[in-house]
Amino acid sequence: MTTAAIIGGGIGGLATAALLTQQGWEVEVFERAASLPTTGTALGMWPEAMAVLERVGAADAVREIGIDQRIAEIRSAEGHRLGPEVRAKGATVIISRPRLLEALAACAPAVRFGDRRAGLDGLTHDVIVGADGIGSVVRAHVVGHEVAPRPLGVDVLIGRCPGDTDVFTEYWGPGRLFGVTPRDGGYINWYSEFDPRVVPPGTPGPDEDPRGFLRAMYRGWAPRVAETIEGIEAETALHYRSRDLPRLPRIVRGNVALLGDAAHAMAPNLGRGACETLLDAAALADALGAAADVGGDAAPALRAYEAARRRAGQRTMLLSRAMRHVALISRLRAPRDLLLRAVAAAA
Ligand SMILES: Cc1cc2nc3c(=O)[nH]c(=O)nc-3n(C[C@H](O)[C@H](O)[C@H](O)COP(=O)(O)OP(=O)(O)OC[C@H]3O[C@@H](n4cnc5c(N)ncnc54)[C@H](O)[C@@H]3O)c2cc1C
Repeated sequence: MTTAAIIGGGIGGLATAALLTQQGWEVEVFERAASLPTTGTALGMWPEAMAVLERVGAADAVREIGIDQRIAEIRSAEGHRLGPEVRAKGATVIISRPRLLEALAACAPAVRFGDRRAGLDGLTHDVIVGADGIGSVVRAHVVGHEVAPRPLGVDVLIGRCPGDTDVFTEYWGPGRLFGVTPRDGGYINWYSEFDPRVVPPGTPGPDEDPRGFLRAMYRGWAPRVAETIEGIEAETALHYRSRDLPRLPRIVRGNVALLGDAAHAMAPNLGRGACETLLDAAALADALGAAADVGGDAAPALRAYEAARRRAGQRTMLLSRAMRHVALISRLRAPRDLLLRAVAAAA
């Protein structure tokens, strides 16, 4: 029987484990955390990601728990619609990361929780998959130590507040944006992305006083932003520096493959990171499935996976980076907004 070691029991690791197990592989998943997480942001599962979840066997649970996103829109800080209102054509489902991981774990073999790998020592499997996220240790084996995540120069503060909506709205202002999106479990998901250089002097720190920080950053913005800020559960707020990866020259070396954030961690602005990760998982399983018996040499199948996914993931990474610039732009906002309104009028 062919064997795979998967480092990382996140979205990509669990999806890959489920798909390879369906194909008759013996799979071990090593996860550093002691258990599945109980907190995390809401993630949009676009139709192509739902198709992968269907193959994994998790789509029904995701549809049952998640919220159908009916409309996505971009508004100015004052609340005027900027781009076209996008009505969901396929089934885009928004689900919180912990519930998505539960649904995936129910389809995957048992995970070895609390097993942090420092590298590849002791792994004699036919294939080793680095699904260990942006801080991947497996990546050094594939591309060397010199490749490291890059700060994007913006911070993110995320959390939830009680309520419900099926509309995804992002408000754009100079150097900062605020998002309000559906979330399961009777909550709304919110997030703030900001350039630390625009934080007004005297603003409370986002870690010490998230509500005070948001009030100061979004004073005078649309009423919905202010209402959301007043409703936030401050104890669930999470603040971090946003980073992405440079374009990797390869995502495969020998019998080792990278996928998901380990291969192409991206700015969150397109909401595509988890979707691209699921597409990686499906492409990897397809490539390994097509090579009926790797006979101890998985390299040709992994090269086929790399050909299918390296550039595709990097394209989305670059687009996410570009989207962040467009959203947070301080100068040339007027022509940008005019352009978005023209697109809306033509749509
Ligand atoms: C604010 C925000 C909003 C987002 N919104 C969206 C969205 O709407 N739609 C979307 O598609 N994507 C979204 N994303 C991106 C998405 O969350 C990621 O792209 C996705 O989680 C990547 O999955 P992964 O499996 O590659 O990595 P992860 O989910 O990070 O999983 C990696 C796993 O590996 C484990 N691990 C790490 N190192 C080791 C080790 N040495 N040994 C053992 N285990 C290890 C970690 O504990 C973790 O469980 C968003 C991201 C952020 C930050």
